[in-house]
Amino acid sequence: MLMPIFSLKLSMKIKPNKVTIGNYFGKYPALTCATNGDKVFIHTPHKISEANRPQSTLTSAGGDVNLLNINQKVSSICAGNLNPSLGYDVLMIGTDTNLVAYDVIQNRDLFYRETPDGANAITIGKLGAFQDPLAIIGGNCSIQGFDAKGDDQFWTVTGDNVCSLALVDFDKDGQKELVVGSEDFDIRVFREDEIIAEMTETEMITCLHPISECKFGYALQNGTIGIYERTSRSWRIKSKNHAVSIFSFDLNNDGVSELITGWSNGKIDVRNDSTGEIIFKDNFNSSVAGIVKGAYTQPENDQLICCSVEGEVRGYNPLAPSSGQTLMDINVEQEMIREMTQTKQTLLMELKNYQDKLSQSQRPGGTEELEKSASMIPVDTKVNCELDVNTGNQEFPGHVVLTISTNNDTIIRAVTAFAEGIFDGESHVIHPHINKVSSSLKMPLRLQKDIPVDAHLKVLVGYKNCSHFHVFEINCLVPRFAMYIFCQQLTVPEPEGFVKFTINDRIQRVCIWINQNFLLKEPVQASNNLHLSFLSMHNQTPLVLTMDPARQVIIKTDDLDVAGNIVQSLATYLKIDDLNVTAHFPEELKALNVLIEKVDGLNSMRQTLTANIADHSNLIRSMVVRAEDTRLIGDMKTMKRGYIELYNLNRDLVRDYNIRCNNHTELVSYLKQVNLVIQKASRLRVGKYKTQVVTLCRAAIKNNNISALVKIITTGAS
Ligand code: CA
Ligand code: CA
Repeated sequence: MLMPIFSLKLSMKIKPNKVTIGNYFGKYPALTCATNGDKVFIHTPHKISEANRPQSTLTSAGGDVNLLNINQKVSSICAGNLNPSLGYDVLMIGTDTNLVAYDVIQNRDLFYRETPDGANAITIGKLGAFQDPLAIIGGNCSIQGFDAKGDDQFWTVTGDNVCSLALVDFDKDGQKELVVGSEDFDIRVFREDEIIAEMTETEMITCLHPISECKFGYALQNGTIGIYERTSRSWRIKSKNHAVSIFSFDLNNDGVSELITGWSNGKIDVRNDSTGEIIFKDNFNSSVAGIVKGAYTQPENDQLICCSVEGEVRGYNPLAPSSGQTLMDINVEQEMIREMTQTKQTLLMELKNYQDKLSQSQRPGGTEELEKSASMIPVDTKVNCELDVNTGNQEFPGHVVLTISTNNDTIIRAVTAFAEGIFDGESHVIHPHINKVSSSLKMPLRLQKDIPVDAHLKVLVGYKNCSHFHVFEINCLVPRFAMYIFCQQLTVPEPEGFVKFTINDRIQRVCIWINQNFLLKEPVQASNNLHLSFLSMHNQTPLVLTMDPARQVIIKTDDLDVAGNIVQSLATYLKIDDLNVTAHFPEELKALNVLIEKVDGLNSMRQTLTANIADHSNLIRSMVVRAEDTRLIGDMKTMKRGYIELYNLNRDLVRDYNIRCNNHTELVSYLKQVNLVIQKASRLRVGKYKTQVVTLCRAAIKNNNISALVKIITTGAS
């Protein structure tokens, strides 16, 4: 159990995951949280001198708490050293429509920006080779970085709405990369605006936090938390509760940061960064709202500060180094004893089984009986896995079928499969009725995305009457494009859309890539020309791959996403650093055109509405004065008429406002789709050309140059 060094009860509620800490007043940092009524409060346990206390909009709410009115739902909050020349932290507050950089001491906005893509997450720090720190905002499919002046220095697109951001030196080169978690279950790592790694998780990534160098912690919406070291996951655990906030802090003082998690049931746990084992815990009476660190109650020493949604704040000091060491040792020892006891139990059970069998076989005629009823199976028993595709029918969509079979008369009693992203949950069990068991078993695998799946299987093999079974553990790798079945002859016309590019590699290398990434009955071989047709089981659309002796590759598909997946996979296999392509996607471009027209329409309508609303409110103001005047002089008839007019005008104003709200929702959804198309178009390219497409597309959209946009998507250049 963890003992807090202090515990406070604030009179204000705290919104989950809207907690930060800022050094605004010099010596002591102040806890800053979003609270009820669209407000943000700033709290320090110390008296801040009146000279330093912000005035006007910041009204003192008793003690050392100051309130800040935002008047809009706070969607994200972060304090940090955005402007080093100020000498204190800047508070960034994001809402659905804008972003404010606030100077707490001077009580003024440093800048205010409209962010139509929203601000779901904010982080402040240095990104890549940028000289100055940036406030990086994650919105609907877009990421934007502002400098201290409010100029946007950085913009890029990502696959879906951003839920979490963290700056991590992912590749240990001394510069920080941006790790982005989004609603499409993907964690992407950006070196400035180039994606250098992509990891697919099983749910929305709600939290990300740097741990040390290339390590970072993550939390998913389904209650999973864990740590990644570069692209590989060190460990993860899953809880039925939901992790509200994660953080890193060296609480046992051994020089390595632990992962601290605050849970929705009020639990705080501190886990070893490399094993995930709990080394400390504490409990709040209500859900945890956030975790930060700072020299909150005592100068210079960082404390771990946890707060709950009910406004309870607890601080923990790191242990003295010596006691930390012993505690760790005890933990390691206990863990070893636990593991060894478990191994002993398993071995004893196995031994008992063998003894039972032996005593059975020593009975007269026992051997025969034993082979079928007890758990003995032939020593050469093997379990095989085979992948195939079921093309499906109207009721059942096409899917990959995994056939598991034994090589003799033994039966498969049950199969447990562990794999991410293909089952509802992370595992799947097949346990046929005892009358239906046989030596083979089929398991359908529904692949939603084009990603390779590594399935780990546990197969229970024995005889029908056995009570004990042998467990075979097998790994089965489902190739990335398993959902595309090979067709000798397409029954549908070839797709109109395509990407075209030339590579330096021989056709044989491309064949090896195809054999590894597609599910084929026989491996593909070619010496001069390649022309392969596939049918997607996702949506029954064709895909054609060709390569000619001049080493020109053409990928024909009408789906921009599929083309991007194939280009990325092939380029990774062939180790191509930079690749530009010619793209022809008439349908997608037509849709993009429609989208941009809609965005334009909504933007101009918005301007009209804003002007109308301003007019109406001015008119209302003067009418109120006039109506009051008539009341004072006792002209009730005119007053009544005045108020009726006022009532009507007010109704119009409310109506206009509602239209503007709907207009905004629509605008956001269209902007998101435009961002998505740009992201897909960039994924058709590799390296510098990939980045170039994003930058050029943005410039074209800013200048409202549709023909340039079409050209960039088609050629990769303007
Ligand atoms: Ca780096
Ligand atoms: Ca530690």
